[in-house]
Amino acid sequence: MKYSFLDVGFTYTSLKEELDAAYHHVMDSGMYIGGDAVSAFESEFAAYCGADYSVGVGNGLEALILALRAMEIGDGDEVIVPANTFIATWLAASQAGATPVPVDADPVTMNIDIALIEAAITERTKAIMPVHLYGQPVKAEPLRQLAEKYDLKIIEDAAQAHGARDNNLRTGKLGHVAGFSFYPGKNLGAFGDGGGVVTDDAELADRIRLLGNYGSKVKYQHDEVGGNSRLDPMQAAMLSVKLRKLDEWNARRGEIASVYQEVLAETPGLTLPVLAEGVESSWHLFVVRNDDRQGLHQALLEQGVPTAMHYPIANHHSGAFRNEFGDQSYPVTEEICRTCLSLPIGPHLSLDQAGEIARIIDQVARERTKL
Ligand SMILES: *Cc1c(COP(=O)(O)O)cnc(C)c1O
Repeated sequence: MKYSFLDVGFTYTSLKEELDAAYHHVMDSGMYIGGDAVSAFESEFAAYCGADYSVGVGNGLEALILALRAMEIGDGDEVIVPANTFIATWLAASQAGATPVPVDADPVTMNIDIALIEAAITERTKAIMPVHLYGQPVKAEPLRQLAEKYDLKIIEDAAQAHGARDNNLRTGKLGHVAGFSFYPGKNLGAFGDGGGVVTDDAELADRIRLLGNYGSKVKYQHDEVGGNSRLDPMQAAMLSVKLRKLDEWNARRGEIASVYQEVLAETPGLTLPVLAEGVESSWHLFVVRNDDRQGLHQALLEQGVPTAMHYPIANHHSGAFRNEFGDQSYPVTEEICRTCLSLPIGPHLSLDQAGEIARIIDQVARERTKL
């Protein structure tokens, strides 16, 4: 393949010396659970988001589950989730014991359609879990108004949107609490699993830390039924190094997105991503839509351009959820699943390469419209 869709190895080679030093620092410290590496990253990441607290946890899914548990959202409760999202958002609600209540996507932004949320609220609704999908923040103000009117919590699923902003506020500051994933392929990724919860609420941060550490604050004193979900100090040390590059790498993603927007503006059959007013995407993914998505994917592969699909099967059609939701219809989400195609984006690509990729896509798409 001439170009790669994603290259996590690039993030290692471009910071090798500092990452190797961080590794040796943790090994030499003798602290392999918790310790300074974790608390240092936690405060750096909270500061980066502009928030008061961040708590390292095992992964992004557990970040969301712990946020729900800490807010006592579970059995008998409903959590509003976007129909169009990675399955983890729905799983977080169901693993916490609550029922995910899907709301269809906005056909323009592909994020949750805010105009449809109010009709999905019932007496049992306790929270809205907006997903900043593909890196684009969901507008915070209309959610805040709904939260106030119906006494709901806003739990951001920010797994794809480290550093993205709405009205100059970063994700992690757009609701009551946010869950982040540090899965290697995310904008801020570790070299293994990792996750974080960000909030301004001191009590909530404490509770999440407790629940992720056997319900214990003082060793062998277990105040409640907790679990084990902690950020590995090795990963925390790596994340501290990579956090210093996040803005630069997000900026590169933004420049690549601009190249795509410009070169592909007139390409027949392609619907390009559109951002809502006032938001700044982290451009985790650049998702276009095309009616012959499978054909385009294959033709691009033959030209050395790998593409991917986020996501090819809607959650309500997945084996996990079709028993419960299979008879529901979320037409915009279904349309996105049928037509979406993610173009290569990331700091591993130069702007020249992005230009080459875009011209190949334009040419291939033009040829295919003649077929
Ligand atoms: C990656 C992702 C998650 C889950 O993160 P993990 O670290 O893999 O558990 C949750 N939500 C969304 C939208 C994601 O993209």
